[in-house]
Amino acid sequence: MNLFTIFGDPVSHSRSPLMHNSVFKSLEIKACYSRTHLSDGSQLRNIFFAKGLSGANVTVPHKEAAYAQCDEIRGIAQEIKAVNTLVLEKGRLIGYNTDADGFMSAIQSFGEIKTALILGAGGTARALSIALRHGEITPTILNRSKGRLDYFLREGFECFEWDDFTVKPYDLIINTTSAGLSDNELPIPRSLLTELLEQAKGAIDVIYGKETPYLREVKISGLPYKDGSDMLLAQGVLASYLFLEGKFPLTTIEVPMKHSFIL
Ligand code: NDP
Repeated sequence: MNLFTIFGDPVSHSRSPLMHNSVFKSLEIKACYSRTHLSDGSQLRNIFFAKGLSGANVTVPHKEAAYAQCDEIRGIAQEIKAVNTLVLEKGRLIGYNTDADGFMSAIQSFGEIKTALILGAGGTARALSIALRHGEITPTILNRSKGRLDYFLREGFECFEWDDFTVKPYDLIINTTSAGLSDNELPIPRSLLTELLEQAKGAIDVIYGKETPYLREVKISGLPYKDGSDMLLAQGVLASYLFLEGKFPLTTIEVPMKHSFIL
């Protein structure tokens, strides 16, 4: 029996166990995926080995800590410097970031996008900014405070705080802040958001499973929009593909994983 888990704090809300166990069940794989509440991220590697895991996902706030504890980092995670997927390979811990490709897959339905405004400057904003750049979409970062903008400035991205931001047209507006997750707040002042939406082609919120105040405003604007469900599914399919050592095509994994969304 191969064991997998998701590490996070909080983690009780995570849909990952349902998503991954649906795939294991459907493909008749002897494996089980659980949740692990982890408050001290520095213990992640020790716990991974103590539990005898074959792989894991990592969520808020441990993606950077997980990156630091891997034996090898593969793909776009090297640039993002944060991992959300861990795979044990010949006794070594290999780290990947499937959030980035999952997001790019989710925004394909918006058609041609050249520029994007990312609201927020946390771990998710990092992954998406690098992914967008790889996809030849120019990201600009807008955050309420300055502290977390350093990473983006080092990467050469245009960055603004609310106070020094002037609205101009962006094709896609992306909310990566946690505003609206467990409160009723907008990620930026309403007047700014209204102006941005008037000039955009589409909008996305990475939060899933609820209608945030941000998405309510987007709906009123009449723009094409989506929440974070497609991204969640796509990053999960890519992680499962890695857990299953590439033995099953992505399309085979996607069907049962998508089905778990209605359970
Ligand atoms: P972080 O804690 O790393 O970053 C949060 C960001 O939100 C910071 O820039 C913070 O600003 C900003 N912020 C928080 N509250 C507010 C507010 N009330 N108004 C304006 N800005 C605010 O979080 P993550 O990047 O790791 O995650 C962000 C969200 O993305 C979470 O809701 C998570 O669930 C979701 N997510 C969804 C995924 C999916 O598959 N759909 C995948 C990964 C994440 P400041 O710097 O000023 O504190």
